[in-house]
Amino acid sequence: MDVRRTAVVKLAVSEEQRDALHRTAEQYLYCANRTADYCWSDTSYTECKTNKREVRDALYAELREETDLQAQLVQAAIKRAVEAVKACVERWKKGQRVSQPTFTAETMDYDTRSATFYRNKVSLATVEGRVEPSFVLPADSPTPYERYVLSENYEFRESTLRYDAATDEFYLNISTRRIDSDDEASEDTGHSDQTVLGIDLGVNSLAVSSTGTFWQGDDYDHWCREFEKRRGEMQQRGTQAAHKALLRLGKREEAWRKQYIHTIANELVSEAVEHDCDVIAFEELSDIRERLPQAKWHHVWAFRRLFEYVSYKAPEQGVSVEQVEPNHTSQRCSRTDCGFTHDGNRHGEQFECQKCGYEVNADYNAAKNIGVRYARKRQHKLRSSPKSGSGDAQVDVRVNGGTLNGESYQPIAGD
Ligand SMILES: [Zn+2]
Repeated sequence: MDVRRTAVVKLAVSEEQRDALHRTAEQYLYCANRTADYCWSDTSYTECKTNKREVRDALYAELREETDLQAQLVQAAIKRAVEAVKACVERWKKGQRVSQPTFTAETMDYDTRSATFYRNKVSLATVEGRVEPSFVLPADSPTPYERYVLSENYEFRESTLRYDAATDEFYLNISTRRIDSDDEASEDTGHSDQTVLGIDLGVNSLAVSSTGTFWQGDDYDHWCREFEKRRGEMQQRGTQAAHKALLRLGKREEAWRKQYIHTIANELVSEAVEHDCDVIAFEELSDIRERLPQAKWHHVWAFRRLFEYVSYKAPEQGVSVEQVEPNHTSQRCSRTDCGFTHDGNRHGEQFECQKCGYEVNADYNAAKNIGVRYARKRQHKLRSSPKSGSGDAQVDVRVNGGTLNGESYQPIAGD
């Protein structure tokens, strides 16, 4: 299974470092906008350039010449612009209104060549050489940063440096992936008309996909607790100054939360794109409080935001977002030939089918069932629609190591 962790870390930057980062961002945006200019054509999408290598070959030397940016940052800016143009072309093909992408937000993509991580600081390439801002980390150890970024069990994937104008702070979103390959045997592969990525939202992991990727979100929990503690302290003081500080804290907290969920939303959409999925299926959130009594308000907030962000980000990549009714998705065995549904199948984070003995992570099992529920519903609709007449329409669910066909599942009551 693919476990990814995202750590969002605030940077403590000196005035000099701040200037260097802003100047770097300015040149980075220049490169991205120049690339978009080069790739874009208002005449026709067939004239837009979307081949990363060709664009890089055409622009790289020139942009290196014109800026003080390090090689990887120039490449990252080109890559970002080509990807944006590509996404626009996809929408254009579908007849949606599009215009040339422009870049204004100060965000830069770093990889191992341009960023080096240490226990308490990061070294970042800038137009003024390397700068080494330190991290603003929580007091208790190990921090999520230590556990996932510095751990040998996780490989560093990439990070995005983001300047938040509202708070005047720099944040680093660091994405890591656990190194192991505990794959299930691939279940059923085959040609399909539509492929679904099922997503389970929960308390153990914020999100789990049917492909077996986990977004654990434990640093989200950690920071929510920290903010709550601080709020409690200020509320007790009850002075005018404390009240003002409380408002400021609230703003900072909200910015941080949104930033965190945006990162996960982006990764969820990438997961769907990487696995050639056309649809992302979530459970309906209407009675989430009843179904997840242990969920705190900040969990429910995160689920709603995540759904909202994915709903507007996914269509930009040609992926649609759907919701299915939650119907015993966590008590049901997701195995193709079983489908046994029972309260006793689930023990906390572990799922064990009482009938066939299938043992698997409970949230992963639920994510597969959500995908299957959508697939069944969709297939049923296609069959019964006289217009489509496609009796052999297929809807598959993307799972870890293959696909499942919604049709071959044993239905459960109410399906
Ligand atoms: Zn079973």
